[in-house]
Amino acid sequence: MSGGDATGVRRVLVLGGTGEARELAARLGAEPGVRVISSLAGRVRDPRLPEGEVRIGGFGGADGLAAWLSAEGIAAVVDATHPFAAAMTAHAVAACATSGVPLLVLRRPAWEPEPDWHLAGSLDEAAAALPGLGERIFLSTGRQGVARFAHLDLWFLLRAVDPPDPPLPPRAATVLARGPFGLDAERALLREHRIDVLVTKNSGGPMTRPKLDAARELGVRVVVVQRPPEPGVPTVEQVDAAVRWVRHAG
Ligand code: NAP
Repeated sequence: MSGGDATGVRRVLVLGGTGEARELAARLGAEPGVRVISSLAGRVRDPRLPEGEVRIGGFGGADGLAAWLSAEGIAAVVDATHPFAAAMTAHAVAACATSGVPLLVLRRPAWEPEPDWHLAGSLDEAAAALPGLGERIFLSTGRQGVARFAHLDLWFLLRAVDPPDPPLPPRAATVLARGPFGLDAERALLREHRIDVLVTKNSGGPMTRPKLDAARELGVRVVVVQRPPEPGVPTVEQVDAAVRWVRHAG
């Protein structure tokens, strides 16, 4: 990577909120000539903080991010947000294009769909599919989308890091927990609550995969919300590859 400030140090922004982003921040912290700043949205009350410098809160859309990149003298951006954080990724693409700052997306691979999964294009599509599929639903799509299921007269187990945003389905129990979740615990949870349908986003990666394996073992139906479209910019799947890109970007 070329450029940098008077001391030759390059400032790299990592858009975070994922385990990969934390790993990348730690790795870049050990790279000579690189100063990393991680950015979090501020959605989680008690976030797992990355090593090094952290800023929290939105930038104010693509224009706000472009202004921030320029004010902070950022030399490169790695978007390591969650695959479903589509607005942040779109803003990063637009802001980096207008600012001329190189952008890389670090995105873990999606889970390979299994033949018996019910694929949904959105949370609304997942909600529409549920009444024909079962009565007791494990909704593991995160806190923000629960309202999309609030109109359904089904029983829901909701799992999220912080309490879900209302409105909630009238019949629901909430488990506050942060992954990763192991196979034994997922199997026990599905059994304890007599779950017959699991709803998940196709987040990918090993951290939240065991619920799918437990569901297959127990014959629980699975509804998977498919990812938003890829942003059409250089993308890697591994932290190593992102570290290598940062060394040469700019
Ligand atoms: P989103 O819908 O794509 O973003 C909405 C707005 O939140 C963005 O326009 C931006 O505000 C702000 N924002 C998002 N990520 C940010 C970041 N890393 N740093 C600063 N501002 C950020 O995002 P989301 O789906 O709400 O996800 C929020 C965060 O949670 C992301 O960082 C993501 O990695 C993490 N996360 C999301 C999910 C999920 O399922 N969506 C799951 C696990 C973790 P401005 O327009 O004001 O800049």
